[in-house]
Amino acid sequence: MTIGRKEAGYRPLNDRIYDYGEVEQTLDDQDRIEQASRCMDCGIPFCHWGCPVGSKIPEWQDLIYQKDWKGAYEVLHSTNSFPEFTGRVCPAPCEKSCVLAIHNEAVTIRENEASTVEHAFNLGFVQPRIPEIRTGKKVAVIGSGPAGLSAADLLNQAGHDVTVFEKNSAIGGLLRFGIPDFKLSKTIIDRRLQIFLDEGITFRPNVTVGVDMTGDDLLAQFDAVVLANGAEQPRDLPVEGRELNGVHFAMEFLSQSNKRIAGEDIPEELSIHAKDKKVLVIGGGDTGSDCVGTSIRQKARSVTQIEILPKPAEKRADNNPWPYWPNTLRTSSSHLEGCERRWSLSTKRITGEEGQVKQVELVTVEWGKDEAGRWVMTEKPGSSEIVEADLVLLSMGFTQPVHNGLLDALGLEYDVRGNVKVNAQKQTSVNKVFACGDVEAGASLVVRAIEAGKIAAAHVDEFLSEE
Ligand SMILES: Cc1cc2nc3c(=O)[nH]c(=O)nc-3n(C[C@H](O)[C@H](O)[C@H](O)COP(=O)(O)OP(=O)(O)OC[C@H]3O[C@@H](n4cnc5c(N)ncnc54)[C@H](O)[C@@H]3O)c2cc1C
Ligand code: SF4
Repeated sequence: MTIGRKEAGYRPLNDRIYDYGEVEQTLDDQDRIEQASRCMDCGIPFCHWGCPVGSKIPEWQDLIYQKDWKGAYEVLHSTNSFPEFTGRVCPAPCEKSCVLAIHNEAVTIRENEASTVEHAFNLGFVQPRIPEIRTGKKVAVIGSGPAGLSAADLLNQAGHDVTVFEKNSAIGGLLRFGIPDFKLSKTIIDRRLQIFLDEGITFRPNVTVGVDMTGDDLLAQFDAVVLANGAEQPRDLPVEGRELNGVHFAMEFLSQSNKRIAGEDIPEELSIHAKDKKVLVIGGGDTGSDCVGTSIRQKARSVTQIEILPKPAEKRADNNPWPYWPNTLRTSSSHLEGCERRWSLSTKRITGEEGQVKQVELVTVEWGKDEAGRWVMTEKPGSSEIVEADLVLLSMGFTQPVHNGLLDALGLEYDVRGNVKVNAQKQTSVNKVFACGDVEAGASLVVRAIEAGKIAAAHVDEFLSEE
């Protein structure tokens, strides 16, 4: 009750924008223990309810307070295969529902999580756990993002032979090729992968299932299949000028940047780089914010991020109370690095010279409700404006998984949003095929993908033991 919230904070701005190292700093042990001691061990821990993996937060805060890093890690890891990922990139819904946050500042749960797992690795508590018994059942996991890796971990621990197929050259899904290194260093993924290799999981990168291997082969060779291939179809912007050079999906830009940092050569003619460019990021979400931070590190001349929705309020609205997720303004470390953010702007057209984007026409929009109570957008008369841009990054989210290829070949049913349809057991419409993560839920969060992988693994295990 006497200790205030203390965050580790970011590295100084004039240091961090010159490299791709992680932006967040760490607290010393004494501060961290004090921060964990702020947890009040409430009778009803709403943080546990707010956390998609159901982390037993008060229990491991207490263990940190007792300096029992091993015990804290074991409790933390018991509901989450990858606290080192969520400890870095989770938006921490747990903190928004922390009971302290009703009248005070929440416990630094996410930072405490990162600190616990780093202590566990540094002190040698994270060792391969090689399953003692093998069931002889073979499971294929398609996609190596957090959902696929979470399912693979738990199925391997249950004794099944797990093979993870990945179309990219490296394992990790969006952790590897979406989330920038300044939020999540790729060495953190490699460290866990080495443990998985030691534990007996087989990884097959550079295999696009549905192309290099047919759906029929997959079903013939494996006793169960877990689809964890993400929601990779980006939302497009069907306006005049969309085809101009310099207009790209955010993921084309971000994945190239991560590959470049990993030492891959990007051919000149394919290179998308922000150096000396006026960058316009269309879409005000997290992917857009990652484009901002990456553009700044690539030495863009200017960076502007626009959003079609109105600017969110700084504080919770009356109809958006604790312990729910607050629909308030979020400012990332990238936003603080020198970008202009604007709201209520719709893109009318993109214009260029000699095939290269030069300008974008924007119009201010106003939001109101129609008679049926639905949100409707109208353009404000006379508000049209032209902004200069020589790199436009489309960052308006993802609509659904890519159907063409594996998913259509397997003859799967889709839900109304075009995601793979699953039941509560994550079973798809095709026998022995399960699905988890963005492919069945739509683009979401790392922590939700991890939880979906957990649920799928439990039901695949049940399915295999009944066979
Ligand atoms: C730029 C960006 C930043 C993000 N930042 C955050 C963040 O900070 N915090 C957060 O919580 N969430 C963040 N997210 C969301 C989060 O990354 C995703 O919700 C999460 O990764 C989904 O996990 P997944 O395992 O379902 O799919 P993915 O991570 O998308 O993994 C799917 C994998 O399947 C592979 N694949 C697809 N088809 C095939 C095939 N036919 N054969 C073989 N392999 C295939 C893909 O190559 C990919 O590696 C971000 C997303 C993006 C795009
Ligand atoms: S995984 Fe996310 S929501 Fe759960 S405890 Fe960690 S930071 Fe909080």
